[in-house]
Amino acid sequence: MQTEKTDVLVIGAGPAGTVAGAIVNKAGYKVRVVEKMKFPRFVIGESLLPRCMEALEEAGLLESVLQMGFQRKTGAKFVRDGVICDYSFSDQFTDGWDHAYQVTRADFDKALADGLAAQGVPVDYETTVTAIKFNEDGSSVTTITDADGNEKQLEAKFIIDGSGYGRVIPRLFGLDKPSNLPPRKAVFVHINDVNRQMDDEPDRITVIVHKPDVWVWVIPFATGITSVGFVGDPAFFEKYSGTPEEIMRGLIADEPYIAERMKGVAFIWEPKLLQSWSATTEKFFGNGFVLTGNVTEFLDPVFSSGVTLATVSSQIAGKLVVRQLKGETINWEKEYTEVMMQGVNTFRSYVMGWYDTTLHTIFFANDQNPEIKKMICSVLAGYVWDTDNPYVKEHDTALRKLAKTIRLRDSIEYINNGFK
Ligand code: FAD
Repeated sequence: MQTEKTDVLVIGAGPAGTVAGAIVNKAGYKVRVVEKMKFPRFVIGESLLPRCMEALEEAGLLESVLQMGFQRKTGAKFVRDGVICDYSFSDQFTDGWDHAYQVTRADFDKALADGLAAQGVPVDYETTVTAIKFNEDGSSVTTITDADGNEKQLEAKFIIDGSGYGRVIPRLFGLDKPSNLPPRKAVFVHINDVNRQMDDEPDRITVIVHKPDVWVWVIPFATGITSVGFVGDPAFFEKYSGTPEEIMRGLIADEPYIAERMKGVAFIWEPKLLQSWSATTEKFFGNGFVLTGNVTEFLDPVFSSGVTLATVSSQIAGKLVVRQLKGETINWEKEYTEVMMQGVNTFRSYVMGWYDTTLHTIFFANDQNPEIKKMICSVLAGYVWDTDNPYVKEHDTALRKLAKTIRLRDSIEYINNGFK
């Protein structure tokens, strides 16, 4: 079997793989990316956060993305029973980007992979990692299979696994662990959004509370096409039957905020169904490898954290790999796992607070404190590593305390108003 050599093998050419590959390549090491699919390929995850733009910038991939003319995203709008809570990324606690983009992932991921190739990194498409053998010194021999079924071996000093839902290293080495979040389901489609409102609508994601534990995303793209998805407990979807199109039309008809606007619009493709995506792994690194992006932990789509966690984990891991290749001893637990868990756990508190309605109480409260709103806005912008922000530092308690204060205040007002 043919054998080739590289310094670093990156598995997957999604946002995680491309950012990691670019950062290691920039430091002068030989990088090889192996990608199972032919690009462009569909993947869900279309609403980016400002923090993600910093990772793309450091990887030298920002220009490739900007050239695509994607829809600028300047905030997030939450809606419940017609009441709107609007967050604008220009009004936040943490210094950082005030916008991100809403992207069709097939085009976004292709732009990243092409940008990486333009930096001189070979990307082998339609090539699947099927086996890995690690040596005692952390170097490895990986078996890859191309579209024609030809096998090759790749020797690498280090592997970065950015294989997303493929979860290559956790699967090959039995590291997968169930998530502590309950399983959820999504039904989504792209529509020809002929009735879109042009005032503030296209430049933000709209998240609609459909039921306390079911929500809807509306993500407009620059092309006039909009992504719409329902997410919730799988049992909720059981009352909808028929073809995927019939199920989606039934869901849309039952949500007053979008029913009129999306009645009878053309679907660009047949609606897709996804279920039980939350997963994690026993460890984020090992002798000769690191996991980045979705392979580490994916929580829930509600705050659009996926691509940000993917790119930031790769930004951090890529730099650590470079330091290790230069001969430094890296404390991976402290410098990688603990840092990543800071961000992941902050988002986890917000995801849990969303589904137990703590965040509904906060988002839809009257007279919101503008300083607190800025702090929460920074989390929604992806700045979940800014521990100067009390709503990051005390993510597990701050939201609950705030919701309790709001409920107490509302009860006192209710009593003062004679229970009206
Ligand atoms: P991926 O994008 O999955 O890329 C991994 C790549 O690895 C793929 O191209 C795959 O083909 C390749 N690969 C897999 N196995 C192998 C193999 N054996 N050999 C070689 N290559 C391989 N995130 C957001 O930021 N915003 C959102 O609005 C959002 N919405 C979401 C909605 C839903 C319903 C779900 C389920 C997720 C959503 N996400 C969202 C999350 C987002 O999809 C992921 O977090 C993101 O795609 C992770 O990027 P990644 O690079 O880690 O993995």
